[in-house]
Amino acid sequence: MAADNVVLDCSNVTAVYDLGYNVKVRAVDNVSLTVRRGEIVGLAGESGCGKTTLMRTIYRDVTPPLKVVSGVVRLQAKDGEVTDIYQVSESELKKLRARVISYIPQGSMSVLNPTSRVRSAFLEVFQKYGEVGKDEALRLVKARLKELGLRESILASYPHQLSGGMRQRTVIALATIMNPSIVLADEPTSALDVVYQRGVVEMIQNIRNMFGTSFIVVSHDMGLHYQVSDRIAIMYAGKIIEVGRTDDVFREPLHPYTEGLINSLPRIGGPKRLEGLSGLPPSLANPPPGCRFHPRCPYRMERCLVEEPPSFKVRGREVACWLMEAK
Ligand code: SF4
Repeated sequence: MAADNVVLDCSNVTAVYDLGYNVKVRAVDNVSLTVRRGEIVGLAGESGCGKTTLMRTIYRDVTPPLKVVSGVVRLQAKDGEVTDIYQVSESELKKLRARVISYIPQGSMSVLNPTSRVRSAFLEVFQKYGEVGKDEALRLVKARLKELGLRESILASYPHQLSGGMRQRTVIALATIMNPSIVLADEPTSALDVVYQRGVVEMIQNIRNMFGTSFIVVSHDMGLHYQVSDRIAIMYAGKIIEVGRTDDVFREPLHPYTEGLINSLPRIGGPKRLEGLSGLPPSLANPPPGCRFHPRCPYRMERCLVEEPPSFKVRGREVACWLMEAK
């Protein structure tokens, strides 16, 4: 771990879907990412660029055909203990989950059992990971709901009786009930209207402020990243191509792909006709040589077709583009 305040250090990780017949999809290709204590990092990019696979890799939720072929994922607990998630036994992994790292997959209904009341979901977490009895667990859950501004009455509800926004906020409360160091939230606002989205964003920021919890928020929605994240990492075709402070990246995107994503956002007083990104992301089974963005890049040069750009450090940012070499 580079520093005491780093809770996640994901270093040179490559994960592939081995589909047999020599077909290997490199969904995560030599990715490095760090998250500091109490930081909200947004992970952005078009669908299919590897965001969810990266989250599953960090959480060690890796089952065939997915394989992690290289790299290290280190986590730092609140007491300072550093663990390589791929070096622990299954029983240690169980302890690590919820207490150090928690994962909220896409879709709140996939987390909550539709046939059980919400109370059961919370008690199950304590049964699995906690060291207290049922009465004490229930007392802690009620206290936490109060801290987060959620009604105690949701505990007696079935998931379908809650609105989409309340269900998502309940899932976030559930994922953070054991005070993990870091939470991986995959598309936490998808399918929610803007009012409910706002509630989810505020809740994530409140949890960070109250408990020092770090988050990686995965979304293809750049507007959400602008609202919620301190730093943003942009992923394209299995690679992270730009990382920087969210304000800086939105004010002056440096990678041409980031520029395309930001130009496609509607703005008050902006152009009526938005400039979308032309073309489609490449197949990860057979990505183009050189810079993977070159078939869609308006600035491509000869070398972009054959040489893969390294990550250049530019004004506090990391940008994988040859245009940054001279900056
Ligand atoms: Fe475009 Fe070349 Fe930069 Fe890739 S390396 S984004 S093709 S200018």
